[in-house]
This record gives sequence, C-alpha cells and structure tokens, in this order.
Amino acid sequence: MTTMNRRNFVKLLAAAPLASVLTVPTAARGAAAAKRVVVVGGGFGGATAARDVNRMDPKIKVTLIEANKTYVSCPLSNEVISGHRTIDTLHASYDALAKRGIEVVHDLVTAIDPAKKSVATKGGKTLSYDALVLAPGVELNYGAVEGYSEAVAAEIPHAYKAGEQTLILKKQLEAMPDGGVFVIAVPKGPFRCPPGPYERAAQVAHYCKTHGKAKSKVLILDTNDTFAKKPLFEQAWNALYPGMIEWVPGSKDGKVVKIDPKTKMAFTELGEHKADVLNLIPPQSAGAIAKAAGLTNAAGWCEVVPSSMESAVHKGIYVVGDSCVGGELPAFPFPKSAHMANTQAKVAAGAIVASLNGVAAPVPYYANTCYSLVAPDYGISVVHVYRVEDNKFVYVKEAGGVSPVDALPIQRKLEAEYADGWFRNIMADAFA
Ligand code: FAD
Repeated sequence: MTTMNRRNFVKLLAAAPLASVLTVPTAARGAAAAKRVVVVGGGFGGATAARDVNRMDPKIKVTLIEANKTYVSCPLSNEVISGHRTIDTLHASYDALAKRGIEVVHDLVTAIDPAKKSVATKGGKTLSYDALVLAPGVELNYGAVEGYSEAVAAEIPHAYKAGEQTLILKKQLEAMPDGGVFVIAVPKGPFRCPPGPYERAAQVAHYCKTHGKAKSKVLILDTNDTFAKKPLFEQAWNALYPGMIEWVPGSKDGKVVKIDPKTKMAFTELGEHKADVLNLIPPQSAGAIAKAAGLTNAAGWCEVVPSSMESAVHKGIYVVGDSCVGGELPAFPFPKSAHMANTQAKVAAGAIVASLNGVAAPVPYYANTCYSLVAPDYGISVVHVYRVEDNKFVYVKEAGGVSPVDALPIQRKLEAEYADGWFRNIMADAFA
C-alpha cells in the first residue's frame, strides 16, 4: 500500500460494517423479530453475510444453505500445489456459525421464486424469506474449450475450485519429470482471482527449483493481453525463476481453444503445445442458480445496486461475491476475490438489517485486498477502496495502492507474512 498506512486502512475497513450495526436503534430491532433471511452459498460471501446479519440483529432468523459440509478456501490453495501448506489448513466448518444461532442446512438450492419469496432445495425443502442473499460463486464453463468437460477435469485439472482438484494438480506436479512442461491455460476475464494463474506459475516454478526439476518450464497460455500486478510478477519471475516461466498473451496466439486429454496437447488457433501437466482454467460465469433465477445479464453475471448489493433485476435478492458483475470504474469495480466478497456481504447485511428494521441503510465502502505469494518469503499485494456517491462507485485514490516495484527484500518478506495474517483474519470473519 503506497499512500495510506495499513493501520488507517484497517480502521477504515472496520468502520464500514460497524456503521451498519450502530445505525439500527434497539427499539426498531424488535420490529424485525419474525423476519427471515435466507443465504444461498456458504463461501466467503455467503458465510460473511449470514454471520453479519446475525451479529447486527440476532432477532432476525438466518438460514444458510450450503451444498457442502466443509468449505475449502481457494485463497492460498496455490501453496498446497507447491507443498508449502496442507489442504486441511484451508478447511472451514460451519459449526461456529450454527453455534451463533444461524440455521445451517446442507442442501443444494435448485430454484428461487422471487415473486413468492421462496427457495426450493434438492432435498425437497421450501423455505420462504423476507430477504435473500445469493452467493453461489462461479460456474465453470467446461464446454467453452473443445475436448474439455467436468469428467475430463479429473485428468486435466483446473484447480479453480479448491479441494480434490487442488490435490490432483499437486500430484501431477510431483510426478512431472525434470525438464517437463507445466502448461497453465488462462481463460478470458473476468475470472475469479485475477492474479491467481500468475501466482500459481510462480509456486510451480518454486517447487521445480527446490525439488530437482530446475530444467522444467511453466508455460502460461493466456487469452488476455495483460494481467493483474504484471510488472511485479514479471520482476519476481525474472529474479527468482530466470528462464523458467514464459507468458504468451492472447494477441500472440495464447488462447487455448482445444485440448486432447490423452496426449495432453493444448491447441491454440495457430499452434499446439505438448504439456507434461496441463492445467486448464475454463471461462466462468455466475453460479448456475443465479442464471436459473433470471438474475444474470447477457455476459452471465449479476448486476447489483451499488448502494446495497440488491439485485438490479429482483428486489429483495442481494447478490454478493464472485457471481456479481465485475469490471472497471465507473460501472462495477468488483474483482472476484474473497476480500471483495467479504466486503460486499457486509454491505448487503447492513442494507438488509436496515431495510427489515425500517431504517436508512448505511453508506457503504467497498474494499479489495489481494496478496500473491511468488515464493514463501516473497509477497506482493494490491489494495483498492471505493465509496458510493449518487449510487455510483467512486475510487478512493488515497486509500489504496500496489506494492512498490523497488521494494527491499524485507518488505517482500513482510508482505508474505501479512498474506498469512490476512488469510487467518478473513477465515475468522466469515466462519468463526
Ligand atoms: P465461493 O467461495 O465459491 O462460495 C460459493 C459457495 O456456494 C460454495 O461453497 C458452493 O458450494 C455454494 N453453492 C453454490 N451453488 C449453490 C446452491 N445452488 N445451493 C447451495 N450452495 C451452493 N481471493 C482473495 O481475496 N485472495 C486470494 O489470495 C485469493 N486466492 C485465490 C487463489 C485461487 C487459486 C483461486 C481459484 C481463487 C482465489 N481467490 C482469492 C478468489 C476467491 O476464492 C473467491 O473470490 C471467493 O471464494 C468468492 O467467494 P464466493 O462466496 O463468491 O464464492
């Protein structure tokens, strides 16, 4: 962070959700006693929303519906691939949320009826709501690359939903011979974690360098012509892994259009590349249930009202996390990150509690922080903060920044430590 010190930034972050809590008068809270908020999806967005509605107004009944019993964090999962952490360090259970009084239901939501204000589940339940938070993450569009499918992902992993996929990719890296080629195919943005593929390249190179595979190569075949924190990544790649990582942009035939899973060939429009390990990250769109509920735009993402995160399509439904439309100012400056999902969830929770209590919604701030680990003792980061004015996003220039290119080694080391602290905090803020 260049123009604001970290302590002030943390204060700013802490102030935004607090404002939501404090603006609900005690007398008004009683009026919401019979209200129910249903949250679909228990990732960083949904779990935070459930926890914050419950914290702000415990009289509101909160039901969190999540398909899986254990959540596996994608943040820091690239470190599992390189062996610097184990997958269990990324696990979160829903027990603490249940202990807070949140009803946790493990089921798959199959339909949403915005008119009747109810959701239906695969297990046969129908639950009505006064406000719905939808946080289903992303859908991976396997069919966009010829030869790829959900079944093929068992052999050609994406590792873009953490868990079993992460472990498959890790095993394949371990089995790769010295001199092998590890191909990462990057889809057209927006996709979750904009710096994720480039951090992964560094983690793979680090593994190869330290495990007798220094003649190996990481080839990034990219659909895009640039990427997040590019100068910082390129500086780190050159310094730490010289000659090991090659990036091919879309304009230089980087887009993978077809694969052959048997031979591990990746085909671009003009060329072909033989991989020893092929990591194909497919294009993405909002979680399937968001599309089924008619909440997505032509590009496949959910548009929201900037002051509240309420859907631009259906009132009473608040969409948070990766399913939201993301892009540049002035429209929706939402990168698909756990930190942004957490912030959006706090804004939605504040707006919902205010609305159910008949008081004005607090004025929101949005923040994104994203650390990338290019080596165990080498971290880089980016921070952006936005406020909302006349229901439009305004970038708060003084509040953000990117790690400097000319940082000292100690600063890179400290950023790696901050990344670990950031992770522990956000896991606690969502699941504890
Ligand atoms: P998710 O976390 O995906 O949660 C969605 C949940 O909804 C899932 O648990 C799913 O089971 C559930 N669900 C979906 N549909 C239904 C349904 N119909 N019924 C019931 N449940 C349903 N972000 C950062 O901020 N920092 C990082 O360092 C970082 N690193 C990353 C590294 C990698 C390799 C990847 C892939 C991502 C990374 N991210 C990072 C991005 C981050 O993981 C996502 O932005 C974040 O998980 C989004 O949260 P979410 O709640 O929208 O979705």
